Amino acid sequence: MAIGDISKQPIKYIVNTHYHGDHTGSNAYFAEAKGSTIFAHDNVRKRLADKEDHTHAELPVVTYQQGMTFHFNGDTINVMYMPAGHTDSDSVVWFEEANVLHPGDLFFEGRFPYIDLDGGGTVTGYINNVTKLIGMLKDDTKIIPGHGKLATKADYQKALDMLVDTTAMVKSMKAEGISLDDAVEQGLGEKYTAWAWNFITEEKWISTLYKGL
Ligand SMILES: [Zn+2]
Repeated sequence: MAIGDISKQPIKYIVNTHYHGDHTGSNAYFAEAKGSTIFAHDNVRKRLADKEDHTHAELPVVTYQQGMTFHFNGDTINVMYMPAGHTDSDSVVWFEEANVLHPGDLFFEGRFPYIDLDGGGTVTGYINNVTKLIGMLKDDTKIIPGHGKLATKADYQKALDMLVDTTAMVKSMKAEGISLDDAVEQGLGEKYTAWAWNFITEEKWISTLYKGL
């Protein structure tokens, strides 16, 4: 367990930033083996409980609608629910004194993001949330993305610029009556080649924007 290299203290609290398995898959382990209490937005619990094969232990025990504040380790840690963006269960974790933001999957560093349209995510909400978060940051805030390496406000701004620009491109293709297949064929240009990765290819990103707008 990677956290064991950072601290040997008990893991009292776990916050799920949303319901996806790569962010909740160890809930049962922490609850059962470590006695951790799991916190999350109401919709995380709902969506996990909706899975046919869910176990009781993996469900968050404390849920909230808007967010909560932990006063812990000498820091003030604000957990804030964000309106439907990556999913409809997204929270971000803002460590005030440490000046660190963990936006969960509202940040894929240097890559096209996954927007889970079937899990309540929305393209517009994702962009609005990122815009709002960047507005809260200081120039030297450290950002721990949901995927990708430790980042800065400037990196987050780059991701927002890409979101806004590619969204406008696909929106105008749609407005011109271009089909999804033709939009994929046309592509987003060389500028964004490096943002594609094995999970969210350029095709998948265009299709998310096309369907989500
Ligand atoms: Zn996710």
